[in-house]
Amino acid sequence: MPTRQQLERGFAKRLGTLSAKHKKQLTKLLGDPPDIANVPEEFWARVERETEQETAVALLIIMLSAGTSFAASRKKKITPTERLAGQLTLRQRLEQAAEERARKVSAGVINNAKRRLTVASASWADRTSRGLDLVDVDQRTTSVFGPKRAATIARTETTGAKFDGEETVAREIIGDEMVAVWVLGPCRHCEFCPLIAGTGREFWSRFVSKPPAHVHCCCRVLFGPPGTRTMPPPPVNAVRNAMKLSGVFGF
Ligand SMILES: [Zn+2]
Ligand SMILES: [Zn+2]
Repeated sequence: MPTRQQLERGFAKRLGTLSAKHKKQLTKLLGDPPDIANVPEEFWARVERETEQETAVALLIIMLSAGTSFAASRKKKITPTERLAGQLTLRQRLEQAAEERARKVSAGVINNAKRRLTVASASWADRTSRGLDLVDVDQRTTSVFGPKRAATIARTETTGAKFDGEETVAREIIGDEMVAVWVLGPCRHCEFCPLIAGTGREFWSRFVSKPPAHVHCCCRVLFGPPGTRTMPPPPVNAVRNAMKLSGVFGF
């Protein structure tokens, strides 16, 4: 079974290759002097579609791997073609989840790109009108479609996909009464995640719906049978303050 790191790296590589292609095309379309107004809507539609497809494939691989590993860790075997209680097979169920998430991710990529390039275009127009050189075109397009952004998406989305895969299988194997304990992952931590670590879903779900709690969050949730021990929860005020400091989603 591939490790989390391997899955994340595979995702980043896949997305990075696609982004490099998009950056090349974007640079050409921006024109000289570069301006987002020169980029046709058709380009954005294609980038969104291709990002969505690539992301959906990557997420499905992670979800299936996480789900089958979880089953194996509980000495159970579950195959992607197995029917779940809700009638669909495991693969069908996870495909739905992967596609739904991929749509959100690719829409986010487009929004972020347009926002950054609109700001950049204003600065390029200003510098051009003053006869100054444009020294930051490569840096600005790389910040939109570059390896760093691909790695950030891969880190954050791997966390979510692992959760989805494991939760789906855990619900099948353990049932709805399973205990879901928040566990810190192997990355640098914010103020928020360590506070909710060890607590059960009845506590952490008051603040977040699932990991990732924020961009770059690598936490996971451990699913156990009823009676699995959880830690006593910290004061709610402390958690709320930490949310503010840590850029927790939806805060
Ligand atoms: Zn965190
Ligand atoms: Zn975290």
